[in-house]
Amino acid sequence: MIYNLGSINIDYFYSLQRLPLVGETCAADEFETGLGGKGANMSVAIARAGGEVRHIGSIGHDAAWAQDYLTKAGVETSFVQKMDAPTGHAVIYRDAFGENTIVIHPGANVLQDKDWISSALANSEAGDILLLQNETNLQDYAAALGHGSGFRVAYAAAPFDANALQAVLPYIHILILNEVELAQLCKTSVDTPDSLDVDLVVVTKGSEGCAIYSKELGETHMPALPVTAIDTTGAGDTFTGFFLAQLDRGCSVEDAATCANAAAALMVTRKGTADAIPSASDVEQLLA
Ligand code: ATP
Repeated sequence: MIYNLGSINIDYFYSLQRLPLVGETCAADEFETGLGGKGANMSVAIARAGGEVRHIGSIGHDAAWAQDYLTKAGVETSFVQKMDAPTGHAVIYRDAFGENTIVIHPGANVLQDKDWISSALANSEAGDILLLQNETNLQDYAAALGHGSGFRVAYAAAPFDANALQAVLPYIHILILNEVELAQLCKTSVDTPDSLDVDLVVVTKGSEGCAIYSKELGETHMPALPVTAIDTTGAGDTFTGFFLAQLDRGCSVEDAATCANAAAALMVTRKGTADAIPSASDVEQLLA
């Protein structure tokens, strides 16, 4: 089973001809809202991949629908707690040329408490996976607890924060990051991913697929599937969810990466985030 301590956001999308200038008021042509947050996207991806996942997180009282969405997607949500705080949200302005500006308010995502996390992680089995990203608080607490309780601890280093990464590094077994995050990491602490003291490092490389640095297997590059990308939003979250779901069911690292590359390739051919995450059968068809 995968335990995912992660963000749950409401995304508010406003489409405008152009982005407002400082001090300007503009009317939006269209408005849409939807489920977002890296944590929620990854939980949906794990469930669509056929994995078992418990989401651990917090929302305000206004976002019961977000919890329902996760539950209907197949995510176990008994440890999503409602708090007297705004649900984390992102306000996204999109212009006619595809450029955007985004303001995020973390809200309830950064009000996790230690007792809640400890209760959520109790009764796990050895080898279960604990997944963390950087849009909640207490990743370092959860990483240490998970490490000590026999979890395989996986960390998706996004959004990148060098201090947050250093705090979890002694406890993680799997690190997943994209090329931009890797460049930031190499600027601050290491020369190459294989010089990190982590069992498995996976670097996603957009249209080039991914690179794997494994203490056991060495370095392997896995090419992406050739597709025409129209929207890369959520590609990284989809990759992470499918990759970990395959590892959790006992697949090899290479097979998990092949499946994750295929799921993420499908994802970039679709518009949207949580709704667009493919199912296991979509991915099987692509790989058949
Ligand atoms: P995002 O922030 O957009 O969700 P990311 O920057 O975290 O994504 P990327 O490395 O861009 O992550 O992409 C993740 C995975 O998605 C890649 O490893 C690859 O499998 C797949 N992918 C991304 N872009 C393409 C593409 N143009 N063609 C095929 N596969 C792609």
